[in-house]
Amino acid sequence: AKAQGRGRWAAHQPGDSDPATDRLTLLEQLRVALRDGELRVHYQPRVHAATGRTAGVEALVRWQHPTRGLLPPSAFIDAAEDSGLIRELGAWVLQEAVEQVVRWDRAGGDAAGLHVSVNLSARQLAETGLADRVAGVLARAGLPAARLVLEITETALMSSPELALRTLEQLGAVGVDLAVDDFGTGYSSFTYLKQFPVDELKIDRSFVAGLTTGVGDRAIVASCVHLAHAMGMIAVAEGVETAEQRDALVELGCDQLQGYLFDRPQPADVLFPPLPVGVA
Ligand code: C2E
Ligand code: CA
Ligand code: CA
Ligand code: CA
Repeated sequence: AKAQGRGRWAAHQPGDSDPATDRLTLLEQLRVALRDGELRVHYQPRVHAATGRTAGVEALVRWQHPTRGLLPPSAFIDAAEDSGLIRELGAWVLQEAVEQVVRWDRAGGDAAGLHVSVNLSARQLAETGLADRVAGVLARAGLPAARLVLEITETALMSSPELALRTLEQLGAVGVDLAVDDFGTGYSSFTYLKQFPVDELKIDRSFVAGLTTGVGDRAIVASCVHLAHAMGMIAVAEGVETAEQRDALVELGCDQLQGYLFDRPQPADVLFPPLPVGVA
């Protein structure tokens, strides 16, 4: 393999080495990417089901890789999670997303006042002092805690529910909103679910995908919406791609919708282009 790009690492050919080496190389590159600013945050809107108005945006990380192009999280999140690098990566995404909504507030256009959702991994959830650090990021940026939603997958929550409960309580005390992500794909225990101070259930997109084709998925989505409301949460559907899915979700009483039907995840200034000088 020969040195490439800015010469920081050796580019490496498929078949060069075994998967463990591949993963190491990926991690080294990811460390450098964090340091050198190759990571990006894209934002995907979610809308109020009743009005179609934008309620907030979800921050989704991307990696502008020097040779491989724009990489989705599936290319590197698992490696980051396994190695613990996810803490640094997650802290960066949080900081970036919080600063972005503050910039949108200041710009005063359509994007002012939006909520921002940030994904938290299982490792981050297990970090001591997480709630204090989140509070610190919000305070330094001057963003009210109520404008931040932290999304945690059902699987991450249930992998260590007692620990999760304590952390969620601390985060709740900071005043941020909490969402259970990919709901329905893990194994929630109602005993815990009812104790978690959660504000939002995000119905996994696999159920949304089957909504208009199978009775089973329709029943599951209806149950999720009922469960959310019975526990004082809002129900959010992800992966909404068609008008038929949207109509079915509205009919089932889902509160907010997110998906390609409305917008794809995009860079901040593509999603909300800054006003030309002189127009504001
Ligand atoms: P997620 O949190 O469930 O995010 C939603 C994913 O669904 C995103 O994929 C989004 O681009 C995609 N999506 C949105 N609308 C549609 C649609 O209508 N149809 C389909 N088929 N897909 C849709 P993405 O951006 O590739 O992210 C994948 C996962 O990576 C996320 O799933 C999340 O678990 C993880 N992730 C992304 N950013 C971060 C981060 O900053 N930290 C952590 N820990 N995980 C992240
Ligand atoms: Ca999410
Ligand atoms: Ca709350
Ligand atoms: Ca999800």
